[in-house]
Amino acid sequence: MLFTQTFIPTLREVPADALIPSHRLMVRSGMIRKLANGLFAYLPLGLRAFRNVEALVREEMNAIGALEIKPPVVVPGELWKESGRWDTMGDAMLRVKNRLDGDLVLSPTAEEAVTSLVRDALASYRQLPLTLYQINTKYRDEIRPRYGVMRGREFVMKDAYSYHTDEASLDATYKAMGAAYRRIFKRCGLSVIPVRADSGAMGGRDSEEFMVESAIGDNTLILCRDCDYAANLEKASCKPDAPAQTQAPAVAAVEPIPTPGIKTIEQLCAFLKTDAQKFIKTLIYRARNVALDLSGAPGTAGLEKRQSSPEAPAVYLEAFFAVAIRGDLEVNEAKLAAILQASEVSLAADSQAARLTGAPVGFAGPVGLNTLPLVADLTVTGMQDGVTGALAADTHYVHVVYGRDFVPWLTGDLRTVVSGNPCALCGGELYEKKGNELGHIFKLGDKYTRSLQVSYLDENGQPQVPLMGTYGIGIDRTLASVIEEHHDDEGIIWPMAVAPYQVIIIPITYHGSVKAVADTLAAALEQNRIAVLLDDRNERPGVKFKDADLIGIPYRVVVGEKNLARDFPAVEVKRRGEASLRLLEVSKAEAELSRLVYRE
Ligand code: ATP
Ligand code: MG
Repeated sequence: MLFTQTFIPTLREVPADALIPSHRLMVRSGMIRKLANGLFAYLPLGLRAFRNVEALVREEMNAIGALEIKPPVVVPGELWKESGRWDTMGDAMLRVKNRLDGDLVLSPTAEEAVTSLVRDALASYRQLPLTLYQINTKYRDEIRPRYGVMRGREFVMKDAYSYHTDEASLDATYKAMGAAYRRIFKRCGLSVIPVRADSGAMGGRDSEEFMVESAIGDNTLILCRDCDYAANLEKASCKPDAPAQTQAPAVAAVEPIPTPGIKTIEQLCAFLKTDAQKFIKTLIYRARNVALDLSGAPGTAGLEKRQSSPEAPAVYLEAFFAVAIRGDLEVNEAKLAAILQASEVSLAADSQAARLTGAPVGFAGPVGLNTLPLVADLTVTGMQDGVTGALAADTHYVHVVYGRDFVPWLTGDLRTVVSGNPCALCGGELYEKKGNELGHIFKLGDKYTRSLQVSYLDENGQPQVPLMGTYGIGIDRTLASVIEEHHDDEGIIWPMAVAPYQVIIIPITYHGSVKAVADTLAAALEQNRIAVLLDDRNERPGVKFKDADLIGIPYRVVVGEKNLARDFPAVEVKRRGEASLRLLEVSKAEAELSRLVYRE
């Protein structure tokens, strides 16, 4: 391809809104341009690299027997009502009306669409297992699209969905997917960290996220210094520490004490000469779209419920909870949302909390609380001599005993793990890293197949509901991450598998014997299925070299009169990212370059 015949509008200046290297370099190298916030166009150079990632993903999917399909991006809202996600997806899902006032959705993901296709075509167990995938446009109305295509509003995802007769079959596909993902990222030159993940709004069980380390990552990873424990903070747990009190449970009766003007745990600790570990902190949370059954829970009678279809779970639109945790710890809202099966949780406003508990903020506590369901972290269970708010202004209780003075409605692991906590597996020290999620695989069980009423006939002619798995990779984000990991101050340094062209030929001046050698070499390499960009522009060599470094094509070949005039006419070859130059005899250049390209 001749440079003048394609469209690679490179930029010298750094775009002001581009905060990370991949975004800067994708814009500067003429790979992408922004159309609007979170909406990008790939230009020819960017699209070539994008297609390479796509092709590589496709190859690995086909290799494990997944079958490619192409469902529409716009799908009926009805399907989302059937699954129940019409109410739980929140504002990220873009809904539109058609001319008949029907609800349509721009797919943010496609469990519903693909499962409805399977529902219509599935009859017998003999058709299972079945894995379908697409590489297709997704739309999510992200609140803060940023970092270029890393978090766009429109992006392309490879999403696969598998259907099974039993757990063993689901597990086999889940593992094959995990292995395929590892190969995909390795071939892209990416160092990924697979971590245990929170399945969030998807609702599921086994799940794994593939993360790349990134200073600007939106995820926090919790890793162990001594073993291979790796988890998303949203799900990370740690080894429970020894109970704060070890004395026998024969503790004095609970006793109210006046604590005037004391608002914080620090003040209280100083006042009572105790430490925060003895304190039971009680926070009031508001949860939205709660799928957990709250029947019988205090203060929940009469809450408004919605069920978008007979098969979808009923959800409480809004519910409030008291959450108790040891005084020195923080509640992990992702874990809380998961336990409550809520789409979202947030601290209730002070006035709301005061109204619900009947006590000013700072004096809430679990003893005598009967206006809200109480959810207790595991660090609170078994507390023998705790201090808590007494549900009255300027008063705390001391000698509070778990099980004697209060019994929670629900208990679970809610604490936020922090650096320094002991690893749940080996006791080693946990530490944090920031990361970005490139891919996600998880087992869904029968969540969608049941709500969407999928069934097949088993060997005995009995109707059964298949199990399901779901597996996604962001193509754009993977591409951007390749650049994050492979660049220097001058530009991109493409790994061969993703490079938009493998060789760039730079004739010092494009005429005469230089042109002839450049043209012949380009044609010969292209014969060998090597993609060549020939910089035929009438520009100074310095400009061409700068652009070549910016665009990052792995092999740069410079054709100049001086080297052609040697006894053995030669061209100069350089691997992007390496300093050394090599002279290759013109007669051997094609064979040697082909060898170098195919070697990688
Ligand atoms: P994140 O936490 O980053 O928002 P997610 O959990 O919403 O990701 P999934 O629903 O699991 O992501 O989607 C699968 C993959 O799609 C992600 O691993 C990521 O590579 C990609 N992806 C998700 N959202 C975006 C986006 N806004 N822009 C680009 N790629 C995205
Ligand atoms: Mg997201």
